[in-house]
Amino acid sequence: MPPLDEFALIQRFFTPDALPAHVALGVGDDCALLIVPPGNVLAVSVDTQVPGVHFPLDAEPFLLASRVLRCAASDLAAMGATPLGFTLALTLPVADEVWLAAFSRGLLEAATALGCPLVGGDTTRGPFSVTVQVQGAVPEGLALRRTGAQPGDEVWVSGTLGDGAAALALLENRLQVSSSTALFLRRRFYQPDIDFALGCALRGVATACIDVSDGLLADLGHILKASHVGAVIEVAHLPIADWRAAVDVAQARRWALSGGDDYRLCFTAPPGQRELLAAQPGLACVGHIVTSSGITLVDEHGVASLPDSSGYQHFSGVDHVV
Ligand code: ADP
Ligand code: MG
Repeated sequence: MPPLDEFALIQRFFTPDALPAHVALGVGDDCALLIVPPGNVLAVSVDTQVPGVHFPLDAEPFLLASRVLRCAASDLAAMGATPLGFTLALTLPVADEVWLAAFSRGLLEAATALGCPLVGGDTTRGPFSVTVQVQGAVPEGLALRRTGAQPGDEVWVSGTLGDGAAALALLENRLQVSSSTALFLRRRFYQPDIDFALGCALRGVATACIDVSDGLLADLGHILKASHVGAVIEVAHLPIADWRAAVDVAQARRWALSGGDDYRLCFTAPPGQRELLAAQPGLACVGHIVTSSGITLVDEHGVASLPDSSGYQHFSGVDHVV
């Protein structure tokens, strides 16, 4: 078979068969055309993933594709937006058809699962990297921003924390867990659930919201800074999954606080919303907002010290948070 040229590659691997009605034009022209529902604004976010930084060099392409799309889509959920579509910028050193077939399958399967169709992209030769830009819609005035947290609000998280750090430790052979827990962690790393329904349900309920991609302390820190407030976090209330039995309590809490890659939502809401929120499965109240700036950790013994590093930052000189 002759080597694939750029356009044959796009046609074969990155042109979905069916598109929802709001995609007036998909892959193949100079731009895609998306219909934004009346009264909504467009929510846009882009994420680049680099091998060795965001995923292991030997990551399976099927899983990698799912991870890249899901991590990008997490920003839409955090804004209270529903997905309209995404574009893909793929830079590859070679066009390996076996790799492309698996990557494309993983990508289109995740796109269907999330209801976020592939509508365009860019394909280039060079050092391997994957960039996904997501577009979503949110009713004007109802987007969940980082700016609205008020003293007295409670701090909530969806699902368990620290799974991303535990999964990375597992992938790097630094953690030993049962096969069912290993399966759970691999799934959490490569196929994190993105809860658009929760983001939508929080419109008009949450005062501020963010997705936990760099660790709870770092991401809650962004809400606090944007809202000019501080927070008290009850460390004993952090929701941590079964893998906690494989490490000591301090390590489990460190990963839950600053591990990153969790793709959960962290949001603030007035105490009046407590009953409604507590009735939702998987939500945990982990603290409250105060006027004085910064984060205070409280454990069974009183005020606890913050971990040395509070989250992953590129260009910080820190390699990985452990
Ligand atoms: P242009 O030169 O106008 O930017 P390209 O030649 O780069 O367009 O791409 C042709 C069409 O294929 C465009 O519709 C573009 O969005 C789409 N496309 C290119 N690469 C990808 C990809 N990796 N995934 C999905 N669509 C792609
Ligand atoms: Mg063009």
